[in-house]
Amino acid sequence: MAASLVGRAKGGTGKYGFASAAIVCQNSGVPETRIVHASDEDMKPAVREACGLLRAGEIVALPTETVYGLAADAFQPEAVAKVFAAKERPAFDPLIVHIGSRRDLARVALVPEDISETVNQLATEFWPGPLTMILPKHPDVPDLVTSGLPTVAVRQSAHPVFRAINKELGNPIAAPSANRFGRISPTSASAVIKELDGRIPMVVDGGACSEGLESTILSIEPRDGKKPIFRLHRAGPITKEQLQKFGKVEKVKERAGELPHAPGQLPSHYAPVTPLRIVEDPRDFRPEEGKRYGLLCYRGGDDDAYVRRHEWDAVEALSPGSGKLAEAAIRLFFAMRQLDEAGLDEIIAEPVSETGLGVAIMDRLRRASVRP
Ligand code: AMP
Ligand code: MG
Repeated sequence: MAASLVGRAKGGTGKYGFASAAIVCQNSGVPETRIVHASDEDMKPAVREACGLLRAGEIVALPTETVYGLAADAFQPEAVAKVFAAKERPAFDPLIVHIGSRRDLARVALVPEDISETVNQLATEFWPGPLTMILPKHPDVPDLVTSGLPTVAVRQSAHPVFRAINKELGNPIAAPSANRFGRISPTSASAVIKELDGRIPMVVDGGACSEGLESTILSIEPRDGKKPIFRLHRAGPITKEQLQKFGKVEKVKERAGELPHAPGQLPSHYAPVTPLRIVEDPRDFRPEEGKRYGLLCYRGGDDDAYVRRHEWDAVEALSPGSGKLAEAAIRLFFAMRQLDEAGLDEIIAEPVSETGLGVAIMDRLRRASVRP
């Protein structure tokens, strides 16, 4: 893939000293993207092929338990540059580094003494799994991976196919979500194809993602004689309630006009092309004559009369009938994508209760509702 970095300067340099530049894909000479299947029982050919490409400095979309990731060998900056190019991701938006084993943490991060016990506790409890820790960066990690930040975001994926590739490759893997920047994250191989077909050589199809939402991201602030403070940069599958045992959870405050701490926290993100509006109670929704509306509802059960009240042009329920937040999280991006492809004028979304996983679901819905 003949990708190159092309900075489109928009607004000069930010506080990280990087131009707010979109890195765009030039002459991506990849005609089509191959899908290679991998099951838990039969993953060897896919693992071998993916590792071959990654070693050769190529990029490959891989399944993780959160969403599909676009992977590059984290120690090959040219490969990492291809990730930015294929996604059209701005250079100020750092990537998460995935380690194949706990031992590899020391290859990518310099864990300070005063938080090492907490890091160990969190890793023991939540790794492999959907928790990303922001830690001081090891000098070996290319600056492109961290967008010039002195910190690196690290996690260990629990997906068996991703883990096998991570281990076989031997190097950490830098992988953001495998979608074009700002768009809906892919939770299946076919969703990756819709986002990146022709821009990447291969997708490993490991089935649907079991969590469906991007990892929880936190940084750790030690406190003398007290539990540390966890600064929550992104809500995700590991909830505040789960983290509270180990530290005091505080949300990172977003300040207008400043680059976000985690660009997944940009006001507009995870967005469908079709405008999406959150309506507190869809029973109050009044359609405009001649427009096509889709409903994104939580349960969509028989007693939810609003599901049939208007002539919705399309309806997607996040957790049909039963109303379980875990199922809603898994289906959120899939359902948004379905509605986005239904030729609608607007998507009307019903909020879910903001407890546990509902915090992360509402975070994604709100950002999806903001126009870029
Ligand atoms: P994605 O993998 O596309 O879900 O995006 C990764 C998220 O991790 C982005 O929102 C990044 O901003 C965030 N991230 C990665 N590295 C860092 C870091 N060193 N500090 C803060 N956030 C980070
Ligand atoms: Mg993303």
